[in-house]
Amino acid sequence: MINNPLECWLNLRMGRPLDSGAVSPEDLREWQFELLRKTIKHAAKSSQFYSKHLSGIIPENIRTPADLSALPFTLPSDLRKNPNSFLCVSQDEVARAITISSSGSSGPPKRLFFTAGDLERTIEFFHYGMGPLVGKGETVLALLPDSRPGGVGNLFSESISRLGAKTVYPEDPSDIPALLNLLLNSRATCILGPAIHIHALSRLWKSKRLPKNQVRSALLCWDVLPSVTIQTISNTFGCEIFSHWGMTETCLGGAVECFQGSGMHLREPDFYVEIVDPATGLPVPDGTSGEILFTTLSRRAMPLIRYKTGDIGQIISGPCTCSLPMRRLTGVTGRLNGDIRLPTSEQLSLSELNEIILQFVGVLDFKVSFQQHPPSLNITLDISPEAKIPSDLSKSIISYPKLNRAIVENDLKINIEIDNHNGNISSGFGKRLITSA
Ligand SMILES: [Zn+2]
Repeated sequence: MINNPLECWLNLRMGRPLDSGAVSPEDLREWQFELLRKTIKHAAKSSQFYSKHLSGIIPENIRTPADLSALPFTLPSDLRKNPNSFLCVSQDEVARAITISSSGSSGPPKRLFFTAGDLERTIEFFHYGMGPLVGKGETVLALLPDSRPGGVGNLFSESISRLGAKTVYPEDPSDIPALLNLLLNSRATCILGPAIHIHALSRLWKSKRLPKNQVRSALLCWDVLPSVTIQTISNTFGCEIFSHWGMTETCLGGAVECFQGSGMHLREPDFYVEIVDPATGLPVPDGTSGEILFTTLSRRAMPLIRYKTGDIGQIISGPCTCSLPMRRLTGVTGRLNGDIRLPTSEQLSLSELNEIILQFVGVLDFKVSFQQHPPSLNITLDISPEAKIPSDLSKSIISYPKLNRAIVENDLKINIEIDNHNGNISSGFGKRLITSA
């Protein structure tokens, strides 16, 4: 008896009969390594980059995670330098090319190529992964990058249409009043998007005393999930919150939660994920935080082997109560090197500021930049149209122990200003960061 749509998907992908029961973690791992060896062979044979990068590697010898950990990393800078050198198929077979100019990254943009089959596998993942969240005839409000016709965000609406549901997209996801109107008018029961956008939407929704019973579920994607935003969204809409991890390099879909708070099941038919110690590059045990790396297992156009994502997370040890054998990712709390060093030498992360600043009702979003000399932390707020800068906000920031020490010992200045006061927010789809001035 198969209940979970993702279990059904896994059986289909592994070519097993649907009534063959749950896949064991051991069988899944063995199948993944078979795909991994094929990927290494395909990449070394067909891509200019990997034919050099993997020279001397014998794919048949890669049978365990320890064997894999001996292979070199693929860096985002390798992708920026010469994306065409990764291509393993002819240009005719490329169904879509995506260019990403990541926020906070320097140098030329990354370019990614996908065949029709590569795209179809993402549609399938969303189709089965969204099954528990969306019913037939329902509407999803989706805040996705590149959701124009033919864009990669449109893969999502294709998967939703296979569930008999439909998707609506905002013209400008940062225009929160327009987003609120779209949510009301479309009667959407599920929202998908970055936590900060949905958090801002829920703040406006609550300020207008709109009802709790429209939205049933929210899938939070693309960036870290501050606990304060999860609470706000859940309390405002009275909905279940599911987390998702992914990036354009994973063709958006990467991992999705089965139940609220259970950790995100990795998209293991398409990726083998490793967590490594950022300092040593060595794999860390389950339950330990480190940098997330992935190797594609089914990508034809542009396989990536041990790709360093720059995201921090950990694998939950042990099985999930839902019985899915796919491992679970959790604790995706930020980016590698995303912290700043205060003049006291203490590290400060955006996650810490999220928890302090976003708890205030009038605050929809904020940006932070840090200047070393003279030391200052500059915060610009996006606040609700009828709100003012909360009177206790400054007090909460300067009394935060790390910041307080830097203020007292090094004369750190804290500047707080308003940026948007019309309901718009500053964040786009890039990962939010503390910028250095
Ligand atoms: Zn589960």
